[in-house]
Amino acid sequence: MEHNSSNFIKSIIKEDLETGKRDKVVTRFPPEPNGYLHIGHAKSIVINFETADEFNGKTNLRFDDTNPLKEDTEYVEAIKEDVKWLGYDWDGLFFASDYFDEMYNRAVLLIKKGKAYVCDLTPEEIREYRGTLTEPGKDSPYRDRSADENLELFEKMKNGEFENGSKVLRAKIDMSSPNINLRDPIIYRVSHATHHNTGDKWCIYPMYDFAHPIEDALEGITHSLCTVEFEDHRPLYEWVLEECEMAEKPQQIEFGRLNITNAVMSKRKLKQLVDEQFVDGWDDPRMPTVSGLRRRGYTPESIRQFVKETGVSKGSGIVDSAMLEHFVREDLKLKAPRTMGVLKPLKVIITNYPENEVEMLDAEINPENPEMGMRQIPFSREIYVEQDDFMEDPPKKYFRLFPGNEVRLKHAYFIKCEEVIKDAEGNVIELHCTYDKETKSGSGFTGRKVKGTIHWVDAKHAVPAEFRLYEPLILDSEDENTDKTFLDNVNENSLEIVQGFIEPNMKDVQAHDKFQFFRHGYFNVDPKHSTSEKAVFNRIVSLKSSFKL
Ligand code: ATP
Ligand code: MG
Ligand code: MG
Repeated sequence: MEHNSSNFIKSIIKEDLETGKRDKVVTRFPPEPNGYLHIGHAKSIVINFETADEFNGKTNLRFDDTNPLKEDTEYVEAIKEDVKWLGYDWDGLFFASDYFDEMYNRAVLLIKKGKAYVCDLTPEEIREYRGTLTEPGKDSPYRDRSADENLELFEKMKNGEFENGSKVLRAKIDMSSPNINLRDPIIYRVSHATHHNTGDKWCIYPMYDFAHPIEDALEGITHSLCTVEFEDHRPLYEWVLEECEMAEKPQQIEFGRLNITNAVMSKRKLKQLVDEQFVDGWDDPRMPTVSGLRRRGYTPESIRQFVKETGVSKGSGIVDSAMLEHFVREDLKLKAPRTMGVLKPLKVIITNYPENEVEMLDAEINPENPEMGMRQIPFSREIYVEQDDFMEDPPKKYFRLFPGNEVRLKHAYFIKCEEVIKDAEGNVIELHCTYDKETKSGSGFTGRKVKGTIHWVDAKHAVPAEFRLYEPLILDSEDENTDKTFLDNVNENSLEIVQGFIEPNMKDVQAHDKFQFFRHGYFNVDPKHSTSEKAVFNRIVSLKSSFKL
């Protein structure tokens, strides 16, 4: 791991190796292909891959595809791409559906041992019979069916003779167990549905709690790392391993889920945002999906560092999204070239600059990383500055352009605002300024000082560009468990699109190139909306942060 920190999972594994309980480490990342991965999954990926790596172990990517109605190969492909992009190579690539025959055979074994039975109760009745936390459950009237009858019925289930919901196979454990998960849980259901992998071969499908331990055991997983909501399922996980007589006995270990502010962290909800067109896809730059973060401009390094910094514990706290932003700033600081872009342009004419003259100014590509070298920026009589960098009637302590004031143009000269040109409606459309040749940047001029430094681009040579500025997609994630749905918290102003200009040396930027625009923050060239005529820049983060580690 990048900073070899210890955590409770590694302590368990270390002890397992030292005591000889295990002689190797095999983990797996087991997504259900029912949506795109989000940053919560990134935590699971980092933990599984890096933990195994630290002990020279292996990690499988396994698609937990036991629910045909929600799963799709589109998701399988997207998940593979995201795991690779995050920087991880899996050892084995598996599908739970590859084990359907094996799972069926294990279910038959349970029936033969008197440990499973076919139950005809309706789903409502099953729920009712299950009891509550304070009341024990009641036995199903079908609980004492003979093994032969169960075998025959289960085979008929498999052969498609029953409708969805009419029969299930249940593990026969204990209807009065204090752990509700052990009250004869359903292990197979009828579902006449086409599966993305096995087509119409099956019309019965195993339930997660039955399937998962078998998948883990068949792959020789040693440590099955999952999130805390499965803690109460662990006794069932172990029951399945034992009663199905699995040769390998993986150990389930739970860790806390990652949640971050201003984001929903559930594929079901993220899918709703996509389906109801609050966003333009799973990879919309406002989404907390791995593909959305990638399109926004986050780097794999920044996501990995963020996840590691949040730590591994049993608790599922909420992490401030400012911390994620902190790590991408840190990562891009030395990597991203600096440049200037004007997002909301205002024309400035430098009246005492010679017409038809153009000079090339030298500027460092990254003052924090001088090895990146220099760039050249043209300067001439007409430039664009930011509309926000001019005020006709400024408040005190406004050091940018206003009538009579002088500012520094980054990398160029001091200019002084002499005249404000307005259209018929009184809107400011142009400024007339003068420059002072003596003040050229780098010339060592010390004659006088100015308080404001602003950015600009040369009007004649500037390249048009589009900028997309983002605010949080979800305004308040605290209401998640009330009657208000998260959709009520969607921010209607989460995207602002503006048309501006960039330095001419930027005309050939490519998708995913990343820059720090002076004063505006870090931006990524959008891979979907950019064309050869016009680049579209997604703002990753602004420069300012109140976040402290
Ligand atoms: P969702 O509710 O978003 O669909 P899930 O847990 O159902 O999430 P899976 O595809 O089953 O999604 O998840 C694959 C792995 O990722 C599981 O081991 C799961 O525990 C883990 N995981 C999912 N969400 C988070 C999270 N927020 N933090 C940490 N791990 C997570
Ligand atoms: Mg799920
Ligand atoms: Mg799940």
